Amino acid sequence: MGSRSIAVVGGGFGGVGAAVMLRRAGYDDVTVFERAERIGGVWHHNTYPGAACDVASHLYEFSFAPNPRWSRRYAPQAEIQAYLEDVARSHGVLERVRTGTEVRSARWDGERAKWLLDTSAGPHEADVLITACGQLSTPSVPPLAGLDSFAGPAFHTARWRHDVDLAGKRVAVIGTGCSAIQVVPAIQPIVQHVDVYQRSPGWTIPKGDFAYSPRAQRLFARFPALQRLDRAAIFAFMELGAAAMTHHRWLLRPFRAICTRQITKAIADPELRRKVTPSDEVGCKRLMLTDDWYPTLAKPNVALVDERIAQVTPNGIRTADGTERAADVLVLATGFKTHGFVAPMEVVGSDGRTLAEEWATVARAYLGMSVPGFPNMFLLYGPNTNGGTGSVIYTIEAGMGHVLAALAELENAGAQRIEVSRHAADAFDRELRAALKGTVWHTGCTNWYVDEDGNDPNQWPWVWTNYRRRTAQLQPGAYAVS
Ligand code: NAP
Repeated sequence: MGSRSIAVVGGGFGGVGAAVMLRRAGYDDVTVFERAERIGGVWHHNTYPGAACDVASHLYEFSFAPNPRWSRRYAPQAEIQAYLEDVARSHGVLERVRTGTEVRSARWDGERAKWLLDTSAGPHEADVLITACGQLSTPSVPPLAGLDSFAGPAFHTARWRHDVDLAGKRVAVIGTGCSAIQVVPAIQPIVQHVDVYQRSPGWTIPKGDFAYSPRAQRLFARFPALQRLDRAAIFAFMELGAAAMTHHRWLLRPFRAICTRQITKAIADPELRRKVTPSDEVGCKRLMLTDDWYPTLAKPNVALVDERIAQVTPNGIRTADGTERAADVLVLATGFKTHGFVAPMEVVGSDGRTLAEEWATVARAYLGMSVPGFPNMFLLYGPNTNGGTGSVIYTIEAGMGHVLAALAELENAGAQRIEVSRHAADAFDRELRAALKGTVWHTGCTNWYVDEDGNDPNQWPWVWTNYRRRTAQLQPGAYAVS
């Protein structure tokens, strides 16, 4: 087992997890390419104040590397980054990662059955290509009129300027998604004033975060079954959420009651209540876990502005009603370009077509992983493998189970290529698109999953046990080996 050379693009949880799982399965010729100077992916890039995970730590970790020492129920960014680096180091993966190396393109050479990579450090070839580029790696900067004219520092949450001291400053934050609801409570105590620009509000739900006592950490270390039990309970609750957002939408009713109560409990001002209360369905936008968002909005040095932004000026922001609010610093909490997947890397398949051409209408892949015409290539956390709940790490591990099954098939057949059939990919796509129609994400709000044409290249429309079951083995006839 394990004679194939494997190139992995991306050194976040996906790339590191892939390399560890390949190594454990006996594949030694694995090279991970990471364009940043460190591994970590989103956890390396998102260092904004307040950055933390909104999936409980005992589920947001590899099943093969449980950490009994998480400091909190929801670990902060630095701890998650340290965990990933520790996993990479202790599993012998760190030395297989080429940091500071961008893969610009990957081209399938059909004659030699090799992927030819053009990297910023020179060419590289491999039998198998695994992309682990994430869905939230490219910051989205909206085309706001006058943005370039702003005189002070302006930066995206995923490119936080730690050299900019916010103490005593007037700060404008654009956006009210998951990043904003963490940043604003974290900076509010030190800034003079913060204006939060909201285009449309999203529902929030209590996070219930707390610190683990040293005793609890010792118990988890001594009795790993306790941690597994906790993980199973978190997963079960997440599955309930996934069912509610997909095909049992009646289950959303109690969630809506909890969300509404969170607003009325924290905010007394009827005008502010009105502004923060979404008109769309709970879960249509990503449901945000927080305990301090509404209390922060009610603070005297915070203003929630729901007028449309007309223009960024050198000194602040002017809204459609003509009001100009001064700002010293501008923070763009405006999310990510989520529909490109492997972009900007160019991937060229067996008939000379690029993935971007194959995905001209919408990115799609069989089980989110395999694309006809792109042999020996697997996408981790690829199209339609994101959820409204669940842990991406669970998804990555399940996906890697599929990759390992495909590699075993290659070895067993003594073959060189494995490629999903067009028939299997099309049948899966039809089933997926039909199922997406019934989900809460398609009930008319703006979210980062659905594009202007109603295409959804991001969401998995079933529960996560379904994903694991489907990816666990290769369906007979789904793949051709040669
Ligand atoms: P996001 O959820 O896409 O939110 C972007 C925000 O910017 C939205 O409020 C959006 O308004 C607003 N916006 C975008 N363009 C705008 C414009 N031209 N004018 C005014 N407002 C504009 O991005 P995010 O908050 O970075 O979160 C993205 C995803 O990352 C999350 O859903 C989550 O999956 C993940 N994340 C997780 C964590 C965590 O684990 N703790 C933290 C951060 C992010 P509209 O809603 O009206 O579009």
